Amino acid sequence: MVPCFNEQDSVKIFYDEIFRIKTKIPETEIDILFIDDGSLDNTLGVIKGIAEMDNTVHYISFSRNFGKEAAIYAGIKNAKGDFVAVIDADLQDPPQLLPEMLQAVTEEGYDSVATRRVTREGEPPIRSFFARLFYRLMNKISKTDIVDGARDYRLMNRKFVNAVLKLGEYNRFSKGLFGWVGFKTKWIEFKNSQRYVGETKWSFWKLFKYSIEGIVAFSTAPLVVSSLAGIIACLVSLFSTIFIIVRKLIFGDPVMGWASTISVILFIGGIQLMCIGILGQYLAKAYLETKKRPIYIIDQSDVESE
Ligand code: UDP
Ligand code: MG
Repeated sequence: MVPCFNEQDSVKIFYDEIFRIKTKIPETEIDILFIDDGSLDNTLGVIKGIAEMDNTVHYISFSRNFGKEAAIYAGIKNAKGDFVAVIDADLQDPPQLLPEMLQAVTEEGYDSVATRRVTREGEPPIRSFFARLFYRLMNKISKTDIVDGARDYRLMNRKFVNAVLKLGEYNRFSKGLFGWVGFKTKWIEFKNSQRYVGETKWSFWKLFKYSIEGIVAFSTAPLVVSSLAGIIACLVSLFSTIFIIVRKLIFGDPVMGWASTISVILFIGGIQLMCIGILGQYLAKAYLETKKRPIYIIDQSDVESE
C-alpha cells in the first residue's frame, strides 16, 4: 500500500518501478493499493488512469488530508494479500528491496521486515541532529523499542497486520505501534536517497509536533519528570526556609533579597506552568481518544473498503 499526498509526479514513476520489480519476480502476485490522502493536485487522476489500465492497481481516496498515519492504517486495513508492504510513493523507499524482504518472510521465518536508513544524506544537518536526539530520548523513556532511522517502509505477514489493526487508536505513531506488537522482525539497512520529484511534506515544525506525539503515545516519563521536579522544588524550599530561620536567629533580620525572591517565584511559577502543560498534552490525547472519531473518511474507492 502506498500513501500519497500531492504526488502527481511521483506516482507514475513509482508504478513503472514496481512494474520492473514485478517482471523480476513473476511468480509473486503484486497488487498496488494507492491511498490518496486528500491530495490537492491531480494525484487521484493519475492513479485512476493507471488503475484503468492495470487491474492489479487499486485506490482509496480520502475526503481530505488525514495524514500519513491515517493513510497507512487505511492501507493495511484494506489490503487483501497474505503479505502487506507499506512503501512511500516518492521512491525514497527503494522498491528493489522488495524481493529480499519477501524472501525473509516467506523463507527465513520472519513475521515482518523493517527498514532503516543508515545515512541521512541530503537532509539538513540540524534536522538530523534533532532526529538523533529524539530517538535517543525516546528509547530512554519508553519501553517500546524505536529504532533510529527506522522508516515506515515495511513488509508484514497476515498475523502481524492483524495485530497492528487491533490497535485502533486515534493518535497513531506507527513506528512505535509496529514495535509494540512484537513478533520476529528482520531489519534491513539502506542508504538514504534524495526524493525523485516533488518536495518532502514534513516541515521542521511538523516533525517536532510528530515527535511530541510519539513521546506522549509511548511514554509517561514526562509525567514522572514533572512530579520529580515538584518534589525537588519542595525539598529546596524546605531547606531554604530552614536556612532563613537559622540565619534570622543568628544575625537578626536585615531586609534584603527582594530580587532573588522574585526570581525564585518566577522560576517555580514557570515549572508549574510547564508541568500543567505536560499534563494537558496527555489529557488532550485522552480527550481525542474518547471521542472515537474515525481515523479517516473515504470519498472514492474502487475496492470494497471499510
Ligand atoms: N504522505 C501522506 N500524507 C501526508 C504526508 C505525506 O500520505 O499528510 C505520504 C507522501 O505522499 C509520501 C510519504 O507519505 O508517499 C512520505 O512523505 P514524505 O516523502 O514527504 O516524507 P519523508 O520521506 O520526507 O519522510
Ligand atoms: Mg520521502
